[in-house]
Amino acid sequence: MIDRDPHQMLEGMAIACYAIGAETAYIYIRGEFALGARIVEQALGEARAKGYIGRNILGTGVNIEMWLHRGAGAYICGEETALLESLEGKRGLPRVKPPFPATHGLYNKPTVVNNVETLANLPHIINRGAEWFASIGSPPKSTGTRIFCVSGHIKRPGNYEVPMGITFRELIDEHAGGMRSDKKLKAIIPGGASAAFFTDRHLDVKLDFESVAQAGSMLGSGGVTVMEEGTSMVWAALRLMEFFYHESCGKCTPCREGTSWLVQTMRRIVAKRGRMEDLETLTDLCQNIAGRTVCAFGDAAIAPVLSTLQHWRDEYEELIREAEAAGLADLPELILPMAVRH
Ligand code: SF4
Repeated sequence: MIDRDPHQMLEGMAIACYAIGAETAYIYIRGEFALGARIVEQALGEARAKGYIGRNILGTGVNIEMWLHRGAGAYICGEETALLESLEGKRGLPRVKPPFPATHGLYNKPTVVNNVETLANLPHIINRGAEWFASIGSPPKSTGTRIFCVSGHIKRPGNYEVPMGITFRELIDEHAGGMRSDKKLKAIIPGGASAAFFTDRHLDVKLDFESVAQAGSMLGSGGVTVMEEGTSMVWAALRLMEFFYHESCGKCTPCREGTSWLVQTMRRIVAKRGRMEDLETLTDLCQNIAGRTVCAFGDAAIAPVLSTLQHWRDEYEELIREAEAAGLADLPELILPMAVRH
């Protein structure tokens, strides 16, 4: 969105600043998104040149300055308090809450943290009215549109802005062109890496916050990943688990150590050295991470493991049975090198 129309977001930020009387706003963009940073920097220059931001905006006496800050590429800096720490020049570690940013935010000042999509909606809501916005989507709570980034085994991966409340089937078949081959859909990640997996039984679930939560997952970032028949769900969960292991900031023990143990146990299963009791170990590890961490990352990290165990336990068991049949399950632990955390 910001690389196509950055001014929508800047205008939304100016509206938000005006509404709360803030005179300074920061755009935090993750380090890898260099193109986006260049585009936003240019847009800030254009807005400044036109007098839309800066001091005494269009002679109104209103002052709003905006600054762009590039992160160093940490997933956890999407968590609002880690983002604030990073913005203050510290290591991006989540803060213990309360206090919340609304009272103790950036430099300990009251702070509003919002995402690009929310801010970009503001100019349209101001121009057309809240009733117009609320008339789109899935009332009462999921109104308006949402941008879904659809990827995976589909014909047309991409970003699709649709009214909230359409079904996964409509999003995948009508917008993303359907499955890329004649293989059937096997799994959907409905809202980014931290959302519990759905199966083909969830195709008619509505894409709104309440419906997806009721079905056992979350809309999260709006990143929808589609997987076809033949995909190994144990592999898919392991790949996500490796990501979470790498991105855990390490502040709290259940997440720091738990993600590492989950990866090692899952790698053993995938390498066909697993034992049936590993499945209980996986569940036990997840239960000891859930609700015991400083931020929501811990709960997010276990979603791929728990949901694949729930829907595709037979795939885990099959790999373990193969290990047992080959006599590999009794061999010493398989230690594979772990990626270095930064
Ligand atoms: Fe860091 Fe994980 Fe704890 Fe969040 S849950 S503070 S990411 S160690």
